[in-house]
Amino acid sequence: MTDNCPNCPQRQVAPMVEQDRGDRISALYRCAGCGHVWSTNRDARFYGEQEAA
Ligand SMILES: [Zn+2]
Repeated sequence: MTDNCPNCPQRQVAPMVEQDRGDRISALYRCAGCGHVWSTNRDARFYGEQEAA
């Protein structure tokens, strides 16, 4: 799923890598706008919700 860049106004950044780890889904993103790289871990039960900051 897409995420918003935490470093610039870029929205709906597609993940470079997305891994389903059963109970968690991890994703690695690279912003096309500013080049910022970040990763997320989401609880699969709440997949689709924004990760709490
Ligand atoms: Zn960015």
